Amino acid sequence: MLKKIDKAESFVREHRQLFQCPVCSEPFVTVEDHHITCSKDHRFDLSKKGTLHLLMKPAQSEYTRNMLLSRQRIAQSGFWHPLLQAIRSVIKHPEGTLLDVGCGEGAHSAYLRGQGITGPIIAFDISKEGINLAAGSYEDVFFAVADLAHSPFASGQYDTILNILSPSNYSEFDRLLKKDGQVIKVVPNPDYLKELRALKKEKETPYSNERVVQKFEDHFDDVEKITITYTVDLFEDMVEDFMNMTPLGWHIDKEYEEIITKLNEVTVDLLILIGE
Ligand SMILES: [Zn+2]
Repeated sequence: MLKKIDKAESFVREHRQLFQCPVCSEPFVTVEDHHITCSKDHRFDLSKKGTLHLLMKPAQSEYTRNMLLSRQRIAQSGFWHPLLQAIRSVIKHPEGTLLDVGCGEGAHSAYLRGQGITGPIIAFDISKEGINLAAGSYEDVFFAVADLAHSPFASGQYDTILNILSPSNYSEFDRLLKKDGQVIKVVPNPDYLKELRALKKEKETPYSNERVVQKFEDHFDDVEKITITYTVDLFEDMVEDFMNMTPLGWHIDKEYEEIITKLNEVTVDLLILIGE
């Protein structure tokens, strides 16, 4: 069996045109001996896990390994599957190139790979911990550490940009997208995780996605919206992982034990925005 690093090298060689140098935006011209080099001689090494680290400077991420492991267990329990099946059904070019922006620990892309997305999938995140965990857990997705603000991906090469519960950069999306490509963005609806919100003593202002949706609609000529709502049972051994996973579950001191006992289901209420 090919080592991960060799498999990754052949992926980059075959799909060199999907990348660009994060320093000078020139194409990568050579791929050899586990590194890639651009036409101005900037060089990046592939890691043993088969990932590329294309960040210009180390980024601080709020994601700890513990939190990422909780996210991974929640994802692997099937928590996101109804959402991902809905996304799968609207992807127009399953054989095309897919870029997963802000992929975290990589479970979404890995799941879609198993659902008949046959084209190359590149998933990236600014969190090196997230990408390490992703690359150690899943095959057949190319994982990279990168920053959407200085994105090391080539212009006009992507059929699908996936942006699940993660920040957007529309000018970058425009640059990266093919002419008939799609941006698929997922944002929370007001009832997202309402059971947890209700149990928290410190009440927050109700969440509204109005501004984010407006921005998306202003940007694309053709927007389709799909609401997806379902309830997930949280079994006892899942609650702590769940609380670790969502920022809504962080920094709760006094009522934490009470919430852990009382929270036995949550509503997943999300809006899928599809822009062309
Ligand atoms: Zn360069």
